[in-house]
Amino acid sequence: MEKGILYIVATPIGNLEDITLRAINVLKNVELIAAEDTRHTLKLLNHLEITKPLISYHRHNEDFKSDLLIRKLENGTNIALVSDAGTPGICDPGEEIIKKCIENNIKVIPIPGACAMINALIASGITTKEFTFLGFLPLNKKLRKEKMEEIKKETKTIILYEAPHKLEATLNDLKDIIQNRKIVLARELTKIHEEFIRGDIDEILKNVKDIKGEFVLIIEGAKREEKENELNCLSLEDHYKYYEKQGLDKKEIIKQIAKDRKVNKNEIYKKFV
Ligand code: SAM
Repeated sequence: MEKGILYIVATPIGNLEDITLRAINVLKNVELIAAEDTRHTLKLLNHLEITKPLISYHRHNEDFKSDLLIRKLENGTNIALVSDAGTPGICDPGEEIIKKCIENNIKVIPIPGACAMINALIASGITTKEFTFLGFLPLNKKLRKEKMEEIKKETKTIILYEAPHKLEATLNDLKDIIQNRKIVLARELTKIHEEFIRGDIDEILKNVKDIKGEFVLIIEGAKREEKENELNCLSLEDHYKYYEKQGLDKKEIIKQIAKDRKVNKNEIYKKFV
């Protein structure tokens, strides 16, 4: 028997018109829709006049439900995976079943569509050439501190998601490490009150008292010299470890350190033989 296909279907992040014709056709043609919140997805299906069996697939049942869905796919059922908003797997359930499909030789087909981080980024005016998506910052103090350190050093554009009631606290935590960097708060994307609040951290903080809605935070990367200065304050060993952690080999690390410190690479090489 031919196995079924798992379609990962992006749905709107606010405006119900943001769904592709292909996504609608897939939702119409699959036998089953696995949804993060079936009641939420039902509203979308009603709007699209689609009637289809729904099964819940959320963070708290991902492991057990993915096994069940794999059995159905093995038996030839075509399934669409959707989340409450946007692209499944991006800060939403999805990863688990996708991994298991690949392990079980089940075809996975992405159906592109809305994703909050991409839309916030492209309208931000901050460089899109290179960026790093960090999702939600961890709440655990130690992990949060590590992420903050990462943000401090990151030269690429940084994208964060944040819940409205935690936004001000997160911005306050970021305050000292992202001074003099451009920030864009993309609020309520694709909805009636969509807005882009632009400024530096102090200006943004003035604007977020009692602010409501959904947010993506785009932060300009650290300036290259800022990072060089910071790296050059490290001991040579720590400077080495910094690049080692990024996966560079010895030759590349030495070349990079020499470049940062504006010295001849043989000079650095001698220290590491
Ligand atoms: N899978 C989704 C995607 O593709 O963007 C993200 C889901 S994640 C659970 C929810 C977070 O995404 C929100 O807390 C917010 O940071 C961001 N988000 C979702 N919709 C948004 C919107 N319309 N405007 C701004 N941010 C949004």
